Amino acid sequence: MLDMHAHFCCVEKEQSMTEELQLRKEAGLRTFFSCGTPEEWEATKKFHSRREVLFSFGIHPWYADRYDAEAYVELFRACDAVGEIGMDSVWCDVPHPVQRRQLEAQLDIAARLGKPIVLHTKGQEREIAQMIRDFPNPVCVHWYSGDRQTLELFLEKDCYFTLGPDFARLCQCAQAQTQLCRYMAREIRAERLFLETDGISAVAWALGSEYTGLERISEVLWENAGYLAGIRNIKEEELCRRMEQNLREFLMLPKEKQGGSGCFRESRKRI
Ligand SMILES: [Zn+2]
Repeated sequence: MLDMHAHFCCVEKEQSMTEELQLRKEAGLRTFFSCGTPEEWEATKKFHSRREVLFSFGIHPWYADRYDAEAYVELFRACDAVGEIGMDSVWCDVPHPVQRRQLEAQLDIAARLGKPIVLHTKGQEREIAQMIRDFPNPVCVHWYSGDRQTLELFLEKDCYFTLGPDFARLCQCAQAQTQLCRYMAREIRAERLFLETDGISAVAWALGSEYTGLERISEVLWENAGYLAGIRNIKEEELCRRMEQNLREFLMLPKEKQGGSGCFRESRKRI
């Protein structure tokens, strides 16, 4: 099972990161961790060689006023994907022009380095869809929650999408988001779909609980996989295989031969 987008529960404590990695490994998860600051990248560095994890790096829109992306080109070069980058007008007060400049700079770096990107689009979906129109590498829109019309713009661009930890829950309750969720689960082509947790604190938030144990990570992924497989009328195992293949394509790696190692380390070596 793949968790396409996650943050460590606690990057301040190495012990906690080691425990989380162990739990994820025992649960048979491959995890794509997102580092939103250079400090986070530094803190996770010692784990970068592990085969069951991948790491993206990008200045998160919440911290867009604290860093100059061009100063970190070496980190961008070393990561598996650039992200999460984007803009956010709902959960942060960083001035819009600052966020936009930071996003433009990082799109430019990712294009230059030939890296795929992971997007955070909260409240800024339409503007971001326009900004990435000519971006040349694969784009993954993480936990999309904009409107349907704007979703079409990302679909036209043939973006990848992750369904968030609240996917199964939203499918079951009568909210406006329910329709969008079901629409996405049905309409996004299989080659472009992923599941994600966004890390344990997002899982707790999505499920409306204050504390959620790390074991919930794999439970939530399998619950969501069950729902998605049901909607698409396929087996969960097939969905997992598809997501692994999607990951290879997102990372622009060659198709894996039968009985391959399942290792994604090549993505960083390649560049
Ligand atoms: Zn995230």
